[in-house]
Amino acid sequence: MIHTLPQLPYAYNALEPYIDAQTMEIHHTKHHQAYVDKLNAALEKYPDLADKPLEELLKTLASLNIDETDKKAIQNHGGGHSNHSLFWQIMGPKKQVDEQLVSEIETAFGSIDEFKKQFTDTASKVFGSGWAWLARDEQGKLHLHGLPNQDSPYLHGHTPIIGLDVWEHAYYLKYKNRRPEYIENWWKVLKLI
Ligand code: MN
Repeated sequence: MIHTLPQLPYAYNALEPYIDAQTMEIHHTKHHQAYVDKLNAALEKYPDLADKPLEELLKTLASLNIDETDKKAIQNHGGGHSNHSLFWQIMGPKKQVDEQLVSEIETAFGSIDEFKKQFTDTASKVFGSGWAWLARDEQGKLHLHGLPNQDSPYLHGHTPIIGLDVWEHAYYLKYKNRRPEYIENWWKVLKLI
């Protein structure tokens, strides 16, 4: 199986004015494409791993008996591909609220506002490049994580539900160094809640 770049479910300018078209286009066609290409390159000598669904590959990565450099490449680029594929899906120009998720978040965090506050805090505190995550463990419990680089929650056995990319490439053209402003505006394009 060759991993491929998924199409965006909306136009590059659809998330304006919160996320600008130029950032979206570069993020999708350059950054995400590079993760896909480098993942495929890392999997060239492991045809059996290349045939696995990406989630499965990331979940079982730690236990694989392969070269550590290749494992790290799969962690970084497989994570990058998986993370961005979800990121495009959970954003949109129109709200498509997931009532079940809203209800679960209210139960777990007390309220949507409290969840947003804690998630924003997690995203603000990621040092350098990384992501903030709402993820579900095997028992179905919701957790917040700040993870470095392109580390996927799947590496820890958790299923990602909501992820926010806080790499500078996700916001620097429009927001420069103002990560808090990017995070605040990002809630407006998160369609799920
Ligand atoms: Mn990114």
